[in-house]
Amino acid sequence: MILVASSNAHKIAEIAALLPEHEVLPYTKFLAPIEILEDGDTFVANAQKKAQGIFVALPQALASSCLVLADDSGLCVRALGGAPGVRSARYAGANADIDNANNAKLVAELQKLGISRSSAYFECAIALCGFAKDSHTMRCATTSGIVEGEVSIEMCGSNGFGYDCLFIPFGFERTFAQMQPNEKNTLSHRFRALQNVRELLQKIDFQY
Ligand code: IMP
Repeated sequence: MILVASSNAHKIAEIAALLPEHEVLPYTKFLAPIEILEDGDTFVANAQKKAQGIFVALPQALASSCLVLADDSGLCVRALGGAPGVRSARYAGANADIDNANNAKLVAELQKLGISRSSAYFECAIALCGFAKDSHTMRCATTSGIVEGEVSIEMCGSNGFGYDCLFIPFGFERTFAQMQPNEKNTLSHRFRALQNVRELLQKIDFQY
């Protein structure tokens, strides 16, 4: 069983669809929600912190029979030195997890530099934590997926969420927000990271 460090039903469904041989459930089915500060410098550090924080809070019997999977993702714009990066959700302010405000700030920052486009990428890091096979030693493994492209100051499209209306993946002339969910979901950073998870599960001897 894989417990996902999220209660977002879309995320759980996306993960379950890509790992059909596993039972995939939100960790909140077994634990009260845990507040974990995402204060790492990298997506990998944040994903690992979340997966570890939840895994160590599980009752021993459950911990012996499951893995915790956590992800952290965001947009990195090269002209802005990698911003918004790990601050993607809160770019426009500490409590402003509002897509419109974040997008407006990104456009304003590019305009300040006098540019209308920049090379950029979305990254998704995934951490898995579980007991090593035949022991009660916790093991964590991480992987990530990246989708390269460009951001533009012109907001286009209404599908998706977050920075989708500004991001044009490499090889396309449409933003993620102009794509149908199925098309975005087979190109996305999350999709790529989840594909690596399949390999990680085969390579590492977890007890679950
Ligand atoms: P999370 O780590 O998946 O919660 O993502 C953190 C933030 O990164 C979100 O609030 C969005 O602003 C941004 N983000 C992550 N993935 C995407 C995506 O696929 N499209 C657009 N924005 C994204």
